[in-house]
Amino acid sequence: MSVSNAETGVSRVAPAAKPARPPLKPVSNPKTATGYHRLRRLIQLTCFLIFVSLPFFNVMRFDIPRQRFYFAGYELWINEFGIIFFSMLFMLYVVVAASMLYGRVYCGYFCPQMIFSEASLNLEDRLKRFINKRFIKLSVPQRQRLAGVFFYLLLVLASVFLAFVFISYFVEPRDLLRRLLSLDIQTTAGVAGAVTTLITFLDFAFVRQRFCTTICPYGYLQGMLGDHNTLIVQYRDQAGADKACIECKKCVRVCHMGIDIRNSPYQIECIHCGECVDACEDVLGRFGKDGLIHYAWGEKGELLSDKRTPLLKRLGLRDAKRVAVAAILLFYASGLFVALSLRDNVLVKIMPVRASLYRIGDDGRVYNKFRLTVANRQSRDASVTLSLNQLPQAQIQLPQPLQLQASQELQMEFEIAVPPGALPAGVNHFEIVSHATPGDDSTTAKMTFITPNERKQ
Ligand code: SF4
Ligand code: SF4
Repeated sequence: MSVSNAETGVSRVAPAAKPARPPLKPVSNPKTATGYHRLRRLIQLTCFLIFVSLPFFNVMRFDIPRQRFYFAGYELWINEFGIIFFSMLFMLYVVVAASMLYGRVYCGYFCPQMIFSEASLNLEDRLKRFINKRFIKLSVPQRQRLAGVFFYLLLVLASVFLAFVFISYFVEPRDLLRRLLSLDIQTTAGVAGAVTTLITFLDFAFVRQRFCTTICPYGYLQGMLGDHNTLIVQYRDQAGADKACIECKKCVRVCHMGIDIRNSPYQIECIHCGECVDACEDVLGRFGKDGLIHYAWGEKGELLSDKRTPLLKRLGLRDAKRVAVAAILLFYASGLFVALSLRDNVLVKIMPVRASLYRIGDDGRVYNKFRLTVANRQSRDASVTLSLNQLPQAQIQLPQPLQLQASQELQMEFEIAVPPGALPAGVNHFEIVSHATPGDDSTTAKMTFITPNERKQ
């Protein structure tokens, strides 16, 4: 099967089911090396730390049991669906825009599946070498079996940890840890954890990079998102006698995806990781020549490494379409920031209870009843105080201030009492002002207080 790029007209080579094998490590030649391998390792380590920490610091978690969405430190409640939808759409737009500008750089540098697949291959490779070196007296099959046992044992532990982190994106981590320690496989979170552990183990033991070319739809989507200005990895060489390639095939041996980039820059397996760029630089650098594989802005565009390219173009803003996409992204991010900063961390809702319009108390005062809902939508405790405007001599019959723990919601009814004769008979307009700390959030609710036409004396 081949996938055709509409603008370039170049056919992508169909994914092939190739066995994943431990890649060779590029040897850096300081004079020529492009250093994408080192850059990848640095970014992948950073991504791993971010992936592990995001749910623990409430930067991102769709907390299903509590029906909360944690985003950028904000605790969004499920009834704030507008902001949640806006946030998720923003993240989707970032992925789409990044694909259009930079191709599959996400796959090669940031994707957790790729990071852990490579880590699993490296671990297996290192273990084999370690056992071959340390257990020299054992036969080859015995050493292989021993390496296999160690590898699968370590992978089981890693799978439990990774599954724990993954489920933490949906269940509060401390709650999840409690369930894990009690070996809970009865509740939904416990079952989900056990199933995710099993899938993670099978994925990183047997599937690995095959996932990218068989299950993951992102590689196929990339064919639709990219155009003639999208960043690609490309082999550029002269033809005939001027051909500089020495056919060492190091670029093929280092490729995690098992492809030969010289066949086409549009192979669907290519994740734009740049390992082949380093490999070719390394080999040809020893002959004092430049490498033949490069990051380039489309098939006919400049090389990424070309320092003469203007800065905006080097950042990927190469045509009006891309500038528009970047502007929309900026606009979107600003809108999201404003929406998040304008939301009340403590939501206060007050409604009148009009089952009876008013009540005359034993003390002769007139009482009106109201229903209060207070939601502390943040990860710290809060206190709320209510006060009255334009209702002389009135008293709120409620112990104040109201103390709320993080994420706590309170619902209650309370009354406002007014001495006889303090207000004109009938409907009196007034305001209830709520003040929440910390944060100094204030909201004002317009209300009416009803007094009888004929008062008891
Ligand atoms: S590493 Fe460079 S020189 Fe060697 S086969 Fe690949 S393209 Fe040719
Ligand atoms: S061809 Fe090069 S850039 Fe593409 S996946 Fe293989 S090593 Fe990475």
